[in-house]
Amino acid sequence: MQISIDVNSGFCFGVVNAIQAAEEYLKTHDKLLCLGDIVHNNMEVKRLNKLGLVIIDHKQFQELSDVTVLIRAHGEPPQTYKTALANNINLLDASCPVVLRLQNNIRKGHLDINKEGGQVVIYGKHGHAEVVGLAGQTAEEAIIISDENDLSKIDLSKSIDLYSQTTKSIEGFNTLVKNIEKNIPEDTTFKINDTICRQVSHRAPQMKEFSTLHDVIIFVSGKKSSNGKYLYSICKETNNRTHFISSTDELDKTWFKQADSVGICGATSTPRWLMDETKIAIDNIKTE
Ligand code: SF4
Repeated sequence: MQISIDVNSGFCFGVVNAIQAAEEYLKTHDKLLCLGDIVHNNMEVKRLNKLGLVIIDHKQFQELSDVTVLIRAHGEPPQTYKTALANNINLLDASCPVVLRLQNNIRKGHLDINKEGGQVVIYGKHGHAEVVGLAGQTAEEAIIISDENDLSKIDLSKSIDLYSQTTKSIEGFNTLVKNIEKNIPEDTTFKINDTICRQVSHRAPQMKEFSTLHDVIIFVSGKKSSNGKYLYSICKETNNRTHFISSTDELDKTWFKQADSVGICGATSTPRWLMDETKIAIDNIKTE
């Protein structure tokens, strides 16, 4: 049985930057606090915990002072920076530059559309850290649309300035655009900003192709990763013998019966070392 790891899977540059910033700091310090999971992958978080990274939540952050805190790639709303200033918290800001640019554009878009009584709409997951950071640029006035059930929240008689969370699917975004276009009056201004990160969207076609090349696909990802769920669904649609695992204990030897080739792939938050470990574990099953 041949086992291959997808060369296009693994961390995007935003996540690589955040992890490198943490590792660099921990070379000269025993401990670093990080606001929220640095990456949606428990195994990688555990590895970084051992180096001294401690994950805190926003409630704990509010109560801190005179410490250094890492901001992860997802970015933060303005309130976090205000709290840091008030409490003398030094921020090691590893917000992804793509997310920071989007935050700026939404802030400007919100100021502009407010003048004409319009609305900022963000296609994204309710409560997702990046979406919280984006909505914060609009003083929480942005309308968050997760799926078509949320469509009724948009006032179709007012101007619309639409953005997307960077990790949403292009298909979902295009469907939302069509749905709005179908229902708005002709004279309503509708500004469409496709802000999906190509680090993610380019992976979908690559993963589709990878899934066709193997009898069995093992998709490795943290269960909390939105991007992981999305890319897994692409693999599963293409190859029905696709299985989702978060750690090698979840591998089941019955999956590999009558399989000549196995492909291992993962999300933008899946560490390469975990895919390597998965390859070794499958090799061991094979030789049992
Ligand atoms: S998916 Fe794109 S926007 Fe999000 S952290 Fe990675 S590189 Fe940055």
